[in-house]
Amino acid sequence: MLIKRLKLSGFKSFVEPSDLRIEPGLTGVVGPNGCGKSNLLEAIRWVMGENSPKSMRSGGMEDVIFAGTEQRPARDFAEVVLLAEDADGEELIVTRRIERGAGSAYRVNGHDVRAKDVSLTFADAATGAHSPALVSQGKIAQVIAAKPAERRQMLEEAAGIAGLHVRRRDAESKLRQTEANLARLEDLMAGLD
Ligand code: ATP
Repeated sequence: MLIKRLKLSGFKSFVEPSDLRIEPGLTGVVGPNGCGKSNLLEAIRWVMGENSPKSMRSGGMEDVIFAGTEQRPARDFAEVVLLAEDADGEELIVTRRIERGAGSAYRVNGHDVRAKDVSLTFADAATGAHSPALVSQGKIAQVIAAKPAERRQMLEEAAGIAGLHVRRRDAESKLRQTEANLARLEDLMAGLD
């Protein structure tokens, strides 16, 4: 999957609508300390479904919304739009928006979808929020220091099989539910005899 464009509005320090074109190949983000380099990577992860406070360097979900400065009032929503092209050349437009007090919502090509659908779409294309294609500050040192299980997770992300674990957990949970239903049914039938 090719990420082609990123649009942000009210996301962390990107209070003004910003539109970035991402050209094919390796893209580096450079700039002075505190200018928002990490916020950009976080915006990509966030639109892909990331919620973990550690990866997002935030306490609560709404911390990604521009919090205001002495000169500017806080915003009441944040929105990130990611335009990508999948392996078949189809365009994918993914939007995530969060409003204060109203939670966050996702859209893919104009249709409302669940957070899980978005995470799986990217995980299957080996471009998820934890993809090794997104290299943040300190990441290389982290890879070197990682435990074998963590390294395996990175390789699975890169190979695009991370989504299979989620589907396996879902299938196992459905299986357990069905087994419980069957046991209940047997009890009820035994009561009818
Ligand atoms: P460094 O090179 O020091 O790592 P950086 O370029 O990666 O910096 P970021 O960490 O992306 O910079 O941006 C930090 C800036 O974003 C800080 O000025 C911080 O105040 C601002 N910021 C983060 N969250 C919000 C928010 N919710 N509202 C407003 N500003 C925010």
